[in-house]
Amino acid sequence: MKAKDPICSFCGRRKSETLMLISGLDGHICDQCAEQAQKIVEKEMGFGGEAQTIDSTSGEVGGKKLPKPTEIKAFLDQYVIGQDQAKKTLSVAVYNHYKRLNSKKSSKDASVEIEKSNILMIGETGTGKTLLAKTLARILDVPFCIADATVLTEAGYVGDDVESILSRLLQVANYKPEMAERGIIYLDEMDKISRKGDNASITRDVSGEGVQQGLLKILEGTVANVAPEGGRKHPDQKYIKVDTTNILFICGGAFDGIEKIISRRVQKQSLGFKSLHTKEVQDKKLLSLVAPTDLRSFGLIPELIGRLPILTALEPLDKPALKSILSDPKNALLKQYQHLFSLDKIELSIDDDAIDFIVDIAFENKLGARGLRGICEAILQDFMYEGPNAKGKTTITITREIAEEKWNRADSQKYA
Ligand code: ADP
Repeated sequence: MKAKDPICSFCGRRKSETLMLISGLDGHICDQCAEQAQKIVEKEMGFGGEAQTIDSTSGEVGGKKLPKPTEIKAFLDQYVIGQDQAKKTLSVAVYNHYKRLNSKKSSKDASVEIEKSNILMIGETGTGKTLLAKTLARILDVPFCIADATVLTEAGYVGDDVESILSRLLQVANYKPEMAERGIIYLDEMDKISRKGDNASITRDVSGEGVQQGLLKILEGTVANVAPEGGRKHPDQKYIKVDTTNILFICGGAFDGIEKIISRRVQKQSLGFKSLHTKEVQDKKLLSLVAPTDLRSFGLIPELIGRLPILTALEPLDKPALKSILSDPKNALLKQYQHLFSLDKIELSIDDDAIDFIVDIAFENKLGARGLRGICEAILQDFMYEGPNAKGKTTITITREIAEEKWNRADSQKYA
C-alpha cells in the first residue's frame, strides 16, 4: 500500500519537506539521508570523500601515514635519477606543507600560523621536473594535475582563465572540492609568462605580466569560482567554489638563458673575492646558484617570486645519468621494452655498449632523457614488427653494431 505523502524511512521527513524521495521495496530514502549514507560508505570502505584527505589528528595524507622527508626522498630515488638537491628540497617542502595543514586543523594555538610555501623548480627541459612532481603526488596519494602556464598566456582575458587550472584538479578529485583543496598542481612553463625585454612585442609583454598577476591570488590562497568543465566561464555555467589556500603549487620552467644572468650577478658579487663561487662557475653548475633576484631579471614580477619561496635547480643530465635512466628506475625504459617483448615470449637483451650508443646519440643531439624513448623505438622497431611471428621462446640480443645499423637506417630525423 502506498502512502499518499510518503515519508523517509530514515529521518521521517515527508516527501513535501525533501528535494527528492527515492522509493525502495519497503521504504523510502530522502536526498539528505542518501548523501549521508554515501559518506558513511566512503568512510568505511576507505575511499573517496573524507577518507582520502588528510586526517588532522593522525597526520595522514590520502588515508596513508604522512611519510617523513627521508622516506619521501627514498621513494623519489626509485623513479628519478640524480637531482639529489631538488629531491631533498621537495621532500622537506611537501612534508612541511602537509604538517602545516595538520597543525592548522588540530592545533588550538592559532598564534603561530605557518605560511604556505609553493615551490619553483628550474632546469633544462627533460631533466625530470614533471616526473618529480608526478612521483610526489603518487607517494602522497592526493589529487594531482599538470597545467601549462603558456595556455594562459594565449587565453586573452586573463583573470578568469587562470582559474581553469583549478578545474583540472577538481576533475581529478572527482569534483569533490574538499579533496581538490589538498591537492598538488604542477604548473609547467613558468618561464614563458615572464615579462619580455624592451625589444619584445608589446602584446606578449602585457599578457605575460597579466597572467603573472592573475596567478598571484591563486598561489597565495583565494576562494575561486571554478567552472567544472574548464575553459572560459560563461554566465549560465554553475561554479564550484574551491579554496586554494592549501593547494600546493609546484612550478617549473627551463628559464633558458638564466645562467647568463646568474653569471653576471655572481661575477659582480665576487669582484675582489676572486675565488668565490669559481668552482661552481667552472663546473658550469651556475643554475644551482640561482637566486630570486635572477628570476626578477628574467622577467618574473617580484610579487610572484615572493609567492614561490622555495627555489630549487635541476642539473643537466650527463651521460652516466642518461645511462642510469635507461636501466635503473623502477619503470626504466629498457625494463618496459623487456616486459613488452616478454609478453610475446621473447627475451630482449641489450649489450652494455649498445646502451652506450643510445646514450651517446641522446647526449650529442641534446635530446636529453626525453629523446631516449625515440631512439630505442627506432632501434627496436623492426624487432617489434617481426618478433611476434617467432615460434616458441626466442632471444633477441641488441649489440652495438645492430643498434648503429638500425639507427642509421631508421628515419632518425623523425625520432630526434
Ligand atoms: P621536464 O623537466 O621537462 O618536466 P620530464 O620530467 O617530463 O622533464 O622528463 C621527461 C621524461 O624523461 C620523463 O618521462 C622520464 O622518463 C625521463 N626523465 C627525465 N629526467 C629524469 C630523471 N632525472 N630520472 C629518470 N627519468 C628522467
